[in-house]
Order: sequence, then structure tokens, then C-alpha cells
Amino acid sequence: MYFNETHEAFRASVRRFIDREINPHMDEWEEKSVPLHDLFKKMGELGFLGIRYDPKYGGQGLDYWYETVLLEEAGHIRGFGVSTAIAVQTNMATPAIDAFGSEYLKDKYLRGAIAGDLVAAIAVTEPDAGSDVFAIKTRAVRKGDHYLLNGSKTYITNGTQADFLTLLAKTGDDGGYHSFGLFVVPTDLPGFVVSKKLDKLGLRSSDTAELFFDNVAVPVENLIGDEGEGFIYQMKQFQHERFTILPGVHVCVQDMIDMTVDYLKKRIVFGKPLITKQVLRHRLAGWLMKNECLKQLTYHIVRMKMDGRDVTREISMGKLFAGQLIAEVASGCLQMFGGMGFMNETLISRYFRDSRIMSIGAGADEVMYEIIARLEGF
Ligand SMILES: Cc1cc2nc3c(=O)[nH]c(=O)nc-3n(C[C@H](O)[C@H](O)[C@H](O)COP(=O)(O)OP(=O)(O)OC[C@H]3O[C@@H](n4cnc5c(N)ncnc54)[C@H](O)[C@@H]3O)c2cc1C
Repeated sequence: MYFNETHEAFRASVRRFIDREINPHMDEWEEKSVPLHDLFKKMGELGFLGIRYDPKYGGQGLDYWYETVLLEEAGHIRGFGVSTAIAVQTNMATPAIDAFGSEYLKDKYLRGAIAGDLVAAIAVTEPDAGSDVFAIKTRAVRKGDHYLLNGSKTYITNGTQADFLTLLAKTGDDGGYHSFGLFVVPTDLPGFVVSKKLDKLGLRSSDTAELFFDNVAVPVENLIGDEGEGFIYQMKQFQHERFTILPGVHVCVQDMIDMTVDYLKKRIVFGKPLITKQVLRHRLAGWLMKNECLKQLTYHIVRMKMDGRDVTREISMGKLFAGQLIAEVASGCLQMFGGMGFMNETLISRYFRDSRIMSIGAGADEVMYEIIARLEGF
């Protein structure tokens, strides 16, 4: 209905790649993080990292439907750490360079990210500023041909392996939302330190870091767009980031339900397969109903994007709904597996740990509620 033969051929090639190059390694990568340079180089060679981007910089120049196919297939990865790392590269750290960056930034950093030669990270959150992005303290002060960058960032995905960060910093005090700059910060500059690799409940295949900047001299040409407009650019970039969650979640919810149904068919309790218990069947059917709503909202958003319409309201609703649904289904499916669900050897236990981030990262649920309320005018 939404995807033609070419989309499906593309889907098959992404799925093959995930089956061969990602899923067989997931247990190992959960122990010691995914090697991003290696993985991204392979993905770059297949054109998976620049689907929507301009062919001039190595992109595929395709539309949002193809991007949705990639994100849906990433939902089959057996752990959200790797799909998150990929989404950072394609939809979180590079859209602003594509939309507002200079020819120099696109040629060097967007091209490098699309090819998989450079690993990207997005650096917004700080120890004292997460939901309240306006409260960030990291500062970039112009000194001749560079900005001196001082401050720290935390919870940065891909942080220990990144070659560059797309980083939000304050450039002034008086301009309200127009007092920020968005910069491309290469991580080989003196004064940049990965202060800590963080230990997490879930997303264990992804590396997450605390970063520190001590008088890092960032060349002025690494400023994205106009000084003072960084906050606005980042708010726009957040829409690409939040959308990435929807296609992967509806696919993963379906996978979790499928694997649970398989288990319930085999598990005999009180003399009968558990799948015969009406209370469990109805719960599963209810999740399928909600998941269909999420899927249709996802496609509605893609149609709106293709039409060039503002999707802030719908993406905020979708991100909120997806985060709550996946946590509900992961927890509920784990319950149906019983003790087996609590064992690390059972994939549902990883999904249970990983799903919790979806209501926190990329703007927590409470932030999404607030955006929706504000857009509705109350
Ligand atoms: C694994 C992981 C990876 C991440 N990756 C990145 C990354 O790559 N780059 C990056 O920049 N950031 C990243 N983040 C940060 C993430 O975006 C923030 O954690 C998130 O925005 C929430 O900010 P916070 O943790 O500071 O929580 P806080 O802002 O301290 O909020 C704490 C709680 O209070 C709630 N709250 C906040 N304001 C209100 C309000 N007005 N009313 C009611 N409740 C409220 C929040 O919703 C939340 O539940 C990552 C986080 C994690 C855990």
C-alpha cells in the first residue's frame, strides 16, 4: 500500500545486511560496544548512511519512504544500542549540517559521515541541562579565526568513538533563543577529553560518554549556519531525531509479540498451551491494536513530510506513544515468558532493558506532553 517494488528490494538488502553483519554479533557487542568505524564503513559502502542526502556528497538522494524502510528494518536488530548508534549518524548529528551547513562542512563532514569514514555524535545534553536545553552552559567565545569552547556534555551516544560532534553551545547572553551556536567539533582537537564511558541499564551495545572541553579552539568555519541560530537549528534537527524512533518501534513491538506467541504456543501450563488463556490472548490483541495505530501514525507523518508540512505535533505524539507502547509491550511480554523472561539468554529481557530509554532520550515524555499542549494553545 505504501511501498513499491523498489522499496521492497531496498528493504531486502537492508535486512540481509542486518542478518549477516549485525545480528550475529549482537551478544558480543552487548558486552563491549559496537565497533562503529568498522560497521559504518560497511554501511556507507552500501549507501545506507545517506539515504536522503544529496548525491553531491555521496548520498542516495532518495525520499522519506526509503528512510522509513531503513528505520523499520533497524527495528529487527536484536538490541536497540546498534539501531540508536546508526540513527545518531543518519538522523541526529547530520541533518543540521545538511540543511544549514556550508559547502566546506558538507563536503568534509557530511560526506565523511555518509561514507562511514567519520563517526558522528550529537552533543546537546549537559550534567545540568537535559530537558531544558536552553539551560546549557557550554560556551563558545569568538577569538579571531576560532571559537574557544569550554564546558561539558553527558550521555553522548557514540561519544567514545566519534570523529566529530555536532555540538550546541552558548555564544552570547542577550539574544534569548538566538544566543546559541551549533558547531561541528572534531574530536582530535587539543583540550577535548572523553572523561568517562558510562555504564547503563540498557542499550549496552551502544557507547555513551561524558565529554569535557577545556579551551578547545574550534575553527570559525566549523560553525553551522549563522551564529546565534544554533538553538533553532537544533530544534529542527530534533524532529528528524524523534521520528527515527517510530518505525523501529512498531517493527520491534511486532517482533516481541511474535516471539511471545511462539513461546506461549509451546509452553504448557495447567495441562494446556498458555496461548489458549483468554486473558493472555486479549492482552496480545490489544497490543497489536495499539501498534497498528502507531504504524499508521508513522505513515501519516511520512506523507506529511513528503508534502513539506510541519510535523512537530504529530512527531511529538508519535514519539510519546511509541515510547510508552514499547515499554508496556516489553514488560508485558517478559511477564508472559515467566522466569524464562528474566534470563539474559532470552531476548525479551534485553528488549525490556532497552525499551526504557524510549520515554527518556530524544526528549522525555513530559517534554512531549508539553510540546503538544503548547501547540494546542493551552
Ligand atoms: C542512553 C542515553 C543516550 C543519550 N544520548 C544522547 C546523545 O547522544 N546526545 C545528547 O545530547 N543527549 C543524549 N541523551 C540525553 C537525553 O536526551 C536526556 O537524558 C533527556 O533529554 C532528559 O534529560 P535529563 O536526563 O537531564 O533529565 P531531566 O531534564 O533532569 O528530567 C528528569 C525528569 O523530569 C521530567 N521533567 C522535566 N521537565 C519537566 C516538566 N516541565 N514537567 C514535568 N516533568 C518534567 C523529565 O521528563 C524527566 O522524566 C541520552 C540519554 C541517555 C539515557
